[in-house]
Amino acid sequence: TAKRHGRNQHQRFRPALDVAGDHQLALVNALRSALATGTQLELFYQSQHRIDNGELVGFEALLRWRHPELGMVSPADFIPLAERHGLMVSLGRWVIEQAVGQLASWRRAGMPAVPVWVNISALQLIQGDLEAQLAACLTEFKVAPRLLGLELTESVLLDERAGDIYPRLAVLQERGHQIAIDDFGTGYSSLSYLKRLPVDKLKLDRAFVRSLPEDQADASIVAAVLAMAEGLGLEVVAEGVEEKAQLEYLASHGCPIVQGFMFSRPLPATEVEAAWLAPPGAPPGAPPASATLS
Ligand code: C2E
Ligand code: MG
Ligand code: MG
Ligand code: MG
Repeated sequence: TAKRHGRNQHQRFRPALDVAGDHQLALVNALRSALATGTQLELFYQSQHRIDNGELVGFEALLRWRHPELGMVSPADFIPLAERHGLMVSLGRWVIEQAVGQLASWRRAGMPAVPVWVNISALQLIQGDLEAQLAACLTEFKVAPRLLGLELTESVLLDERAGDIYPRLAVLQERGHQIAIDDFGTGYSSLSYLKRLPVDKLKLDRAFVRSLPEDQADASIVAAVLAMAEGLGLEVVAEGVEEKAQLEYLASHGCPIVQGFMFSRPLPATEVEAAWLAPPGAPPGAPPASATLS
């Protein structure tokens, strides 16, 4: 059932809406006011698990927009819109503040002390002062940088407008942030950059996981990425794990961490607390029985 809910979670724009300039503009204005009030925006959180024992190891924060008429609008639709219309830096700041505020309140509530990962747009590195913003926000909420992971896509890492990304990531890592390359395998990057970039994790794109284990090409790519990552000391997170057969293939090829509807859909913070706040006496971070390999 998780799968069914997940697929129907968002309202994709009808193609007609997508091309019509008037509607685009109306939507941009609606997003601008949603950002100003914050009331239609919400972060959902999707759990990440160690593959061998199901242990909770983190959450990815995923932005949601509840449009009054369109319903839940997909970030795949409105993030590009925000980027094109100069809203991305503010939107990114909102995401960071929400995530860090949530971390602080989860610490106080006694939630498992696992990192929350936020997605970072290239524009936040190009136009926004990401480093200063992160430092100010973490100080304000008294949250340790090791609890805030940063997900950057290959295209972000290769965007020359962000300057030399290497020292910037090194500074963030030095402060304690963990850094992941998101959607790994879908970009145009050469493998040599993996050797020198200061990153901690590779997130294997859902596209490679989807047809495991039947698709021979995907199976080969996944096995190769896992072997390479191990050699480089990078931890792999497989995205979009929905089925037991996928999980078994990943486990047998040494994938350490998984994320996907098989374990949990992205959920509102209150539902995350309901699932993971340990009742008195229970050990924190125990996996739900449904989410283990055995
Ligand atoms: P992403 O960072 O690669 O996030 C993973 C996407 O896969 C999420 O889609 C998640 O809901 C979906 N997903 C997770 N497990 C499964 C599964 O088992 N099956 C299937 N079919 N899908 C699964 P979502 O939430 O729609 O987000 C789409 C993209 O929007 C994200 O891809 C990310 O690139 C972007 N995004 C979301 N939130 C933010 C944000 O706060 N800032 C920025 N810059 N981008 C964001
Ligand atoms: Mg991501
Ligand atoms: Mg991803
Ligand atoms: Mg993706």
